[in-house]
Formats: sequence, C-alpha cells, structure tokens
Amino acid sequence: MADERVERIAEFIKPLRVKPGSKVNLGKDFDPGYKADYLKKKDGVELLKTGTAMLADYQARLAAQDTHGVLVCLQALDAGGKDGTIRHVMSGVNPQGVRVSGFKVPSAEELDHDYLWRYARRLPARGEIGIFNRSHYEEVLVVRVHPENLDRQKLPKEAKGRGVWDRRYREINDWERYLSDNGFTVVKLFLNLSKEEQRIRFLKRIDRPEKNWKFSGADARERRRWDDYQKAFSEMLSATSTDWAPWYVIPADRKWFARISAGAVLAHTLIELDPKYPTVSPDTRGSCAPPSASSRPRRPRVPLPTRMLPPMPQPRKAPATRAATRTGAACRVQRTRPPR
Ligand code: AMP
Ligand code: MG
Repeated sequence: MADERVERIAEFIKPLRVKPGSKVNLGKDFDPGYKADYLKKKDGVELLKTGTAMLADYQARLAAQDTHGVLVCLQALDAGGKDGTIRHVMSGVNPQGVRVSGFKVPSAEELDHDYLWRYARRLPARGEIGIFNRSHYEEVLVVRVHPENLDRQKLPKEAKGRGVWDRRYREINDWERYLSDNGFTVVKLFLNLSKEEQRIRFLKRIDRPEKNWKFSGADARERRRWDDYQKAFSEMLSATSTDWAPWYVIPADRKWFARISAGAVLAHTLIELDPKYPTVSPDTRGSCAPPSASSRPRRPRVPLPTRMLPPMPQPRKAPATRAATRTGAACRVQRTRPPR
C-alpha cells in the first residue's frame, strides 16, 4: 500500500487516541461534534467506500494467513450509533470472516460464571474479525453505575467491596495483554455522543413508527444517569487505554464522521498487522508439476480375472404388468451364470 495513504490514516486517527497513562475528563477532552476541518460530508461518502474496499481486501488476507485475529469492542451510550457503525463499516467484508456478538443483561447461566466468561466464549478465531456490540467494558460501566448488577453476580465477599473497580481494570488490561501476546489485536472504540444529540435521536425514535422498536423506557431512565456514565467512561478510558490495546474516542454526533473514523481505526490496525496471502512453497509447487517420462511411476500390473463377467443382459421389452411394476419386478434382471 502507498505510504502516503497509510500516513494519512495514521494522522487522521491520532487525535482520537487516548494516550496510555493519561487522565481523561470526557466532557473537557473530547468533543462529540469534532470533525477534521478538511472533510465535508460528501467526501465522507467517498472515503467510506474506499475504506470498506480496503477492509475487504485486508480481511481476505487476514483469513488466508490464519495466524492473527482482531477483536473490535464497541461501546456507547444508547443511540450512540453502534449498530449503524457495524452495518456501514463492515458492509464490504465477507460475512464468513466476521462474527458480531451483542451483550445484554447477563443470563442466569452467565451470572453463574466469572464476569469475563461470556466474553471469552465469543472471541474471534485466528483469521477472523470479531465485533463486540457492547463488551466486557459493561462490567465497569453499567455494573458500576447500577451496583445492584454487581450484587446479582454472586461474587464472594472478598471479590466485591473496596477496590473492585481498580481490580477489574487490572484484570481487563491483563486479559487484553494476554490476547494481544497471542496474536489477537484488541481495537476499542467509544462512540462519544453529546447529551443534546442523544435527545434528538431519542425523539426521532419516538416519532417515527419504524424506529419505535429502538426506544425503551430503560433508555430514558439511563439518560437520567448521564453524569454518572460520563464519570464511569472517563475513569474507564484513563485506566484501560494501554499500549497494547488503546482506546479511540470517536466523535459520534455526526454519523458519517463517526463511520469513517471507526473505519479508519480498523484499517490502521489491519495495515499494522499487514497480513499476507501465504505462498506455495517450491516443494508443494513441485509436487503438482507433471512428472518426466523417466520419473513417472510404473502402474502396478493388475492380473486380469480368469473368469470375465458376462455382459449386462438387457431387460425384456414385454409390457410390465401392474403388479410387477408395483413390486419392482419389471426392473429385475435375471442373473445368468458366467460361461466356464
Ligand atoms: P441494548 O444494547 O440497547 O439492546 O441494551 C442492552 C442492555 O443490556 C443495556 O442497557 C446494557 O446496559 C445492558 N447490559 C449489558 N451488559 C450488562 C451487564 N454486564 N450487566 C448488566 N446490564 C448489562
Ligand atoms: Mg438500547
């Protein structure tokens, strides 16, 4: 790939990256309405098209190389645009190589296990791109904002109480480091929506019958906890943006800009991985070349049978009776003894 394009993508996503070790204050540090000055919405359509074609090519190579996998974690508040981002960014990619998993309120079976269990079960395989629509980060977001979720997790006394969130941040960082050390790159995208834009999107969901299904009473209740979520997101971004799995804060008030930004981060990840189509080794290639006359193996001689089978007798032309047809007798052929 031309270096200029690679550099442009790297430059484009730089302001979105949360510097590992920095302390984030979401409200102050990241503007949900940000867009690169040089970009207009109509450029965005073209860019997204180029980006999706590029992703399709890289994904095919990732699958063929079959050594690395990519896990994309998408987090956002309600109406942040997670579903639309997945639909648009992954539109050109072969569905066989992508696995999307959504995470909702945990089931009884999930609550019976450690909190990372259900996420570990949905990890991508080598050669795949896995997308988490909500992810293990819910365990330090909704569970933190609504501590009754922690009570439901049936934790022993020593695993909850003081220090539980710092411990979870450490465990999540360790888990992601383990994944990245073993060939699985973790890409983390937080779609950062403003409170005003969320209000506008909620109203659309209420007003338009075809969008009603997207809105629930729970969404309105969660909106009342806006400040608590902003605080939980800020702490999460500060504690879990690491060198091996950094967070990207995607400005989400303009859907088109959010989509090209998410696509650019994913493209950047794949460019860095640089998967390649495996080539056929000279040995394997040689095994398919036509053999020379001298090296051609001799076909083993099979002795001819001493008693040849008789030729297949033809069925008689006589019209089949109804009874014979019913039993299949009309098709039966009389065996003849082979000549001596
Ligand atoms: P949605 O993505 O709009 O279908 O909603 C899924 C809901 O599941 C959201 O309200 C999440 O906050 C909630 N959820 C996801 N993970 C968890 C979790 N670990 N504990 C409790 N609630 C969760
Ligand atoms: Mg929802």
